[in-house]
Amino acid sequence: MIIISFGIKIDMDACTGCGTCFEVCPSECFNEPTDGKVNVNEDNREECVGCRACETQCPEEAIQILED
Ligand code: SF4
Ligand code: SF4
Repeated sequence: MIIISFGIKIDMDACTGCGTCFEVCPSECFNEPTDGKVNVNEDNREECVGCRACETQCPEEAIQILED
């Protein structure tokens, strides 16, 4: 069995805290942005399914989903 896991990389300089990734992620991998920045929800980091909704919809292209 092949298990693929994903890494979530956020460019914190580019992030404006718009909340799009927080809203579109089906696995609650992000916390609600505060002070204009978003952070990964560490409790759910491993739940990322690699759908790339966050990566494709971030208006600042600040997210990269990496295959580990
Ligand atoms: S969608 Fe992009 S700019 Fe918006 S909060 Fe997420 S990482 Fe930041
Ligand atoms: S790739 Fe999908 S599951 Fe993973 S963090 Fe982005 S929106 Fe969430």
